[in-house]
Amino acid sequence: MAYVRGERQQTQLFPASLEDYVGGKDPVRVYDAFVNQLDFRELGIVLDDNQMGPPEFDPQAMVKLLVYGYAYGIRSSRKLERALYHNVSFMWLVGGLKPDHKTIARFRRDHREAMKGILKQCVRLCVQLGLIEGNTLFVDGTKIRANAGMRESWSKERCDRVLKRTDEHIERILKECENVDASESGDSSLVNHPELQDAEALKAKVQAIAETLKKSGKPVLNTTDPDCRHMQGRQGTHAAYNVQLVVDDMNSLIVQSDAVEDVNDRHQLANQATQANQTLGKPCETICADAGYDHNPSWKELEDQGISVVVKANDQKPSGPFTKDQFRYDAGRDCYVCPVGQTLAYRSTDKKTQHRIYTVANATICRTCPQKMACSKSWTGRTIARIPLEEIRPVVQARYESPAGQVLYARRQCKVEHPFGHIKRNLGVQAFLLRGLAGVRAEAALLATCFNIARMMTLVGVGGLLPEPSTA
Ligand code: SF4
Repeated sequence: MAYVRGERQQTQLFPASLEDYVGGKDPVRVYDAFVNQLDFRELGIVLDDNQMGPPEFDPQAMVKLLVYGYAYGIRSSRKLERALYHNVSFMWLVGGLKPDHKTIARFRRDHREAMKGILKQCVRLCVQLGLIEGNTLFVDGTKIRANAGMRESWSKERCDRVLKRTDEHIERILKECENVDASESGDSSLVNHPELQDAEALKAKVQAIAETLKKSGKPVLNTTDPDCRHMQGRQGTHAAYNVQLVVDDMNSLIVQSDAVEDVNDRHQLANQATQANQTLGKPCETICADAGYDHNPSWKELEDQGISVVVKANDQKPSGPFTKDQFRYDAGRDCYVCPVGQTLAYRSTDKKTQHRIYTVANATICRTCPQKMACSKSWTGRTIARIPLEEIRPVVQARYESPAGQVLYARRQCKVEHPFGHIKRNLGVQAFLLRGLAGVRAEAALLATCFNIARMMTLVGVGGLLPEPSTA
């Protein structure tokens, strides 16, 4: 016979219990053991077998379902429900429970805060197992699409444009109606004109959006998910969230996850490092990030705590004989000394940028300088802008340029991009399912937990994560 064929009518002897379907070293047992050891009281989920009211599905089983589902790229509540009927490992994990998709979705929505706590407990477990050191951390961010379309994003310009167009449309309909009314005596055609009603409904809707947009202070408001922002990614502009991860150097395990509304990473370094340190229960020694995290106040805040910052400066202008780096800053006198030895003293502070402006005492000094044309084309002479906390920049720059800093920075990419690659490629996460910042943060924490569990299995093996079998 050419092929081995299946036989649906063949009598089968299936194992008697679900336990017999799952091998002793099956990865699902790790997820089961992980959730069993979670402190649910700390997560804010009450486990009370004697509670009053209609019986609920076991919260432990529901958490297992979510963690295991996310770990295998099954996130939608309908797919999770289906898996409970068709996938033996899911059946085993929840003991054959069959919550429907509405129950699963409601549990996930009602326990968004708890999901963030699960990652913290996972990190503490990794520390106990000696898999997270917490000395050197890497921070990076990526854009992940929100569960919202761009068509529902409204800027002030778009509101004004649509309102103008709608007003013109209403005007045109009214004029047509007036013409009809003038030519036909009898009933007015104005009141119940369906096109007119639609246009007025649209106008009222856009006016309400414009009002909300104004109150929010945001440049763009998405009516499907008001927390998301327009973000530029490699695949174009989308309604998205900026997902931040802090990864430990030792084994690339995630220490902290977050989702923020900021369209860039600039202000996130101190914020993410502080949250990671709180989870670890101690301050890290070094934190490393790419040029997107170039932000003097964040650097200063961390350096003041004794944390060494290794970040590539975002200075894109090439160095030259009269670029700013060739002007020596004299901290004692609060002035700059130019390459030919002239002093540029403090003149004023830009109210908007808070940059301190330094100039020569008299424009004639620059006008008569032989280097004038190479240094400045301004008639009033050369100015230097000093950004707030600029004194921190040479410290961070020197550390980044040191041999040790270069080795660390080279390691950054593979360390911190590994989790993003796993989440986006292996788990297939192209967009969040939950809407709103709290929901997105919960999903990000769940995905980070799943990455950590998968990584722990790689590092110590399934057997190393399972509890010792009871000898009683
Ligand atoms: S142009 Fe002015 S600031 Fe520039 S080198 Fe000459 S004196 Fe110094």
